[in-house]
Amino acid sequence: MQTITSVSEMQLLAESLRAQGQRIALVPTMGALHPGHLSLVTIAKGLAQVVVVTIFVNPTQFGPSEDFSKYPKQLEADLAACEAAGVDYVFVPEAADIYPKNYSTYVVEEHIAKPLEGASRPSHFRGVTTVVAKLFNIVRPHCAIFGQKDAQQVAVISKMVADLNFNIEVVVAPTLREVDGLALSSRNRYLTTTQRVEALVLSRALRKATEMVAAGERRVDRLIAEATHLIGQQRRVRIIYVSIVNRLTMEAVKGEITLGSAVMTIAVWVDEVRLIDNEIL
Ligand code: AMP
Repeated sequence: MQTITSVSEMQLLAESLRAQGQRIALVPTMGALHPGHLSLVTIAKGLAQVVVVTIFVNPTQFGPSEDFSKYPKQLEADLAACEAAGVDYVFVPEAADIYPKNYSTYVVEEHIAKPLEGASRPSHFRGVTTVVAKLFNIVRPHCAIFGQKDAQQVAVISKMVADLNFNIEVVVAPTLREVDGLALSSRNRYLTTTQRVEALVLSRALRKATEMVAAGERRVDRLIAEATHLIGQQRRVRIIYVSIVNRLTMEAVKGEITLGSAVMTIAVWVDEVRLIDNEIL
């Protein structure tokens, strides 16, 4: 495994891999890797000869009052995890190389990025689409793997790829969970034992919704009411949103869901820790 820190070196490497006819799979991450990230690597290995993991805590996707400066960093452990997972290249650029002085070009998806995460984190997806477009140009992958855990991110990036004609296959990986249901996230480490217990209500509410759907329930208002009721029983958990949206457009589903096209998506504060989770219905 090789670690690359310079943008120009990564571009040269990508060009030479492509010239040799090698298929490149990209797994973009912000580091603090956990088994959820590594499940993306496993999928990537099945899709291409060369797997590139990027580790970059992207400053432009954090709002001014968010946790950018204290986002967990553990590069050595991340590199060891990548090596053990069979990653070929880890690209760890410097922020000054990605956003040099006087940087002024941004990629903005103007529709799907607006509701949900976009409503409570106004510049978040502008940062995500910008950095992912840049990583696509630097790593030149044939396919890129993203987690369903970030359902809106998947929808926004898929739209960007279509709108901007990136010749890249977007592959979506299922959400990896702890045995008790908690979706793996780099932010789970901020939870105390008590907060973690209360955080389990996210997956419980989503499971309840999928059970109701399996039992024949289709009405959006009933599904949301039940999930909201469950979450409301936890005293440390505050709802940011509980929504049922079309999984491609992120528009609210009205009336009844159509199986497979709707996703229940939830964002909460558990005290000061912001968590998201979702389940396709
Ligand atoms: P992050 O480092 O949080 O930006 O995540 C990098 C990638 O890993 C994104 O595509 C996430 O959706 C994905 N990811 C994060 N958590 C999980 C999980 N529990 N299961 C599957 N993929 C995940």
